[in-house]
Amino acid sequence: MSALPARFDALPLAPATLANLQQLGFEAMTPIQAASLPVALAGHDLIAQAQTGSGKTAAFALPLLAKLNPRWFAVQALVLCPTRELADQVTAEIRRLARAQDNIKVVTLCGGVALRGQKASLEHGAHIVVGTPGRIMDHLERQTLTLEGLNTLVLDEADRMLDMGFLEDIVTVARQCPAERQTLLFSATYPEGIEKLARQFMRDPQQIKVDAPAADSTIEQRFYEVDRESRLAAVGQLLHSLRPTSTIAFCNTKQQCNALVDLLVQQGFVAQALYGDLEQRERDQVLAQFANRSCSVLVATDVASRGLDVKELDLVINVDITPDPEVHVHRIGRTGRAGEKGLAVSLASMREMGAVGKIEQYQNAPSVWHKLDELNPAQEGKPQALQPLLPPMVTVQIAGGRKEKIRPGDVLGALTSPEGGPAFTREQIGKIQVTEFCTFVGVARDQAQAACNKLNAGRVKGKSVRARLL
Ligand code: AMP
Repeated sequence: MSALPARFDALPLAPATLANLQQLGFEAMTPIQAASLPVALAGHDLIAQAQTGSGKTAAFALPLLAKLNPRWFAVQALVLCPTRELADQVTAEIRRLARAQDNIKVVTLCGGVALRGQKASLEHGAHIVVGTPGRIMDHLERQTLTLEGLNTLVLDEADRMLDMGFLEDIVTVARQCPAERQTLLFSATYPEGIEKLARQFMRDPQQIKVDAPAADSTIEQRFYEVDRESRLAAVGQLLHSLRPTSTIAFCNTKQQCNALVDLLVQQGFVAQALYGDLEQRERDQVLAQFANRSCSVLVATDVASRGLDVKELDLVINVDITPDPEVHVHRIGRTGRAGEKGLAVSLASMREMGAVGKIEQYQNAPSVWHKLDELNPAQEGKPQALQPLLPPMVTVQIAGGRKEKIRPGDVLGALTSPEGGPAFTREQIGKIQVTEFCTFVGVARDQAQAACNKLNAGRVKGKSVRARLL
């Protein structure tokens, strides 16, 4: 490891860009940035192995922005992402990084949104397009998008796009880009398909891999031995005993996710499943409820949870051990963020001991085993542990979202105003999330019904709305 932090001003970046980075609080480069920016800024193709949260967006955004000509109204860079959430995050980050440059237009093109509005945005001139492969294909077919002026193609979370079956689409899109271009590929893992993808349309790519983080001391890891019968029940025992507010429970399959959610709900927990083939609407709803702390347990597959940005996660449970040690590190890294102490619990059967061994090797740390009996709440002398574990918030869903031009401030205003019902305090209202067609508001559990009633009786943005408790 180098002792000196890698400084952005050692890179060939414009002074205004450097000043903007400083304003954004980017003091030193992250490891993935230090490894990939010199290569990418020099114009080479790149395959970089990087996780969400590693600073990978800047690793591809700075090079594409450096090449961009704002006075030329053509799509000069295209970023392909697996999901709309990631595309939205990437767009937001590119806009922040582009603040130093004149009027750079970034347009997001994802499915589930009317084509017409996207067509209009493209007609107004876009320099950078960020989107999901299917929708980008739609626009190319309709010729509402042309890539003749493109000089940078980025594949973000390429492994996940492959998992989701986007290979054909990616290849088709890449074929429509000029041969003379730079291609930057980012991927959390490096399955075989990536190499195939790279061979098809990258030019002599340089490969970059940042070493796996050493076993993170802010994350406590515990292993419990389980068998087929006790595995799912152990999750309930853990939740009763540890009483976390927000937990992600990782399963290896969708079937396991559903079986666990059924059991947890039966036991009185508020749990929801997140896997790859949920409809966007369902996914939005699940994610909103988990993020605003009205769902205690998100039961997820790895593919579905990537790109998910949830802060304040108390507990990660590996319901199944993953055969890929990198995935394990990625899973447990979701807790203990920002210097907070985190806890990651893994349930392993005899048959999974081989995978546990690989994890130990990869992390260069032995696993610490505990016994399920220790979780008996009565033994721990915690009478509250027998109470149901209810999340602190409840979600109120309002029919109406970005399409109706609703903004979080409008909803907060309606709820905190003294007119038309009790005035709620800012503390009683949690996260407000506006999606295309609806809005999710987290409200303190004991106030939720009253908040719902107030919204139904009153107005938001001068219009009456329909609200319901989820
Ligand atoms: P990403 O992995 O691109 O999603 O980035 C994760 C977060 O880290 C984002 O909020 C970035 O704005 C932030 N970030 C990226 N690079 C740096 C840096 N060099 N210094 C400080 N923050 C950064």
